[in-house]
Amino acid sequence: MPNMPIDPNGPPAHTAADATLHITTEDPLTRRALLAGAAVVGGWIAIPTLAAAQETPATSPASPTVTQAAPAAVVAVNAGAVSPDGMYALPPLPYDYADLEPYLDAQTVKLHHDVHHLGYVNGANAALAELARIREAGGDTIRQVRAATDALQFNLSGHLLHTMYWSNMRRNGGGPPDANTAIGRLVQRDFGSYEAFAGQFQAAAAQVQGSGWAILGYETVARRLVVLQVEKQQNSSVWVVPLLGCDVWEHAYYLKYQNRRSDYVRAFMNVVNWDDVDARLRAAEPQR
Ligand code: MN
Repeated sequence: MPNMPIDPNGPPAHTAADATLHITTEDPLTRRALLAGAAVVGGWIAIPTLAAAQETPATSPASPTVTQAAPAAVVAVNAGAVSPDGMYALPPLPYDYADLEPYLDAQTVKLHHDVHHLGYVNGANAALAELARIREAGGDTIRQVRAATDALQFNLSGHLLHTMYWSNMRRNGGGPPDANTAIGRLVQRDFGSYEAFAGQFQAAAAQVQGSGWAILGYETVARRLVVLQVEKQQNSSVWVVPLLGCDVWEHAYYLKYQNRRSDYVRAFMNVVNWDDVDARLRAAEPQR
């Protein structure tokens, strides 16, 4: 499996999703099945991913050169986020609690993963069950769909963004992405330089009002990278494939950094796992 994210501590626990990794991507039917699998795991990336996959590849020189389809990679980077029975699950951390020290402290990582992220997993499963109950009951019960939909959006966004956040980071990460990777080329093309990107990304994260995220995302219509602010976490832009997210909820940094969010965001840049970000980009832009 080329281009899998490199994890010095070994891959996270295998799930049913891993079974698809061994299927060749040459067969279009199989490839579609792989993409469908990736879409389920990737949540709101489903529609742009499938649309991009079914287009004829563009010949514009402005198009990013992405040499390898990587639907399997996005399954891998989200491994463990869905159980074999289709329920959402807490993916194991791909490193130890203390591995991101001194940038992220072990106590924060443990609480954030084991308590906060688990809460979103349980909330997403509960919301799906509630929506199933509402559909089955029908009648006047359907008026309850608003509250259950809100709960699903909040908790599922939380689950998928945190799944990305953990795999977005690694020990000895950070710095600019490799200039020979797809993400390295696009950061250069769309921001001018890594330094320009990092300045914008950190400012966006620092200036999120209240709780939320800074997101480096891939916009699949013009095919460019954009930096967004996602306030709370359910107010995501569905037209962007998220690639890199920095959680700026206070639970992500308050134990170590208190009110100094900018210091936390600067530290985050030292643990970015660009292999993971690149795998997500190649999954969003197959065979270009
Ligand atoms: Mn969080």
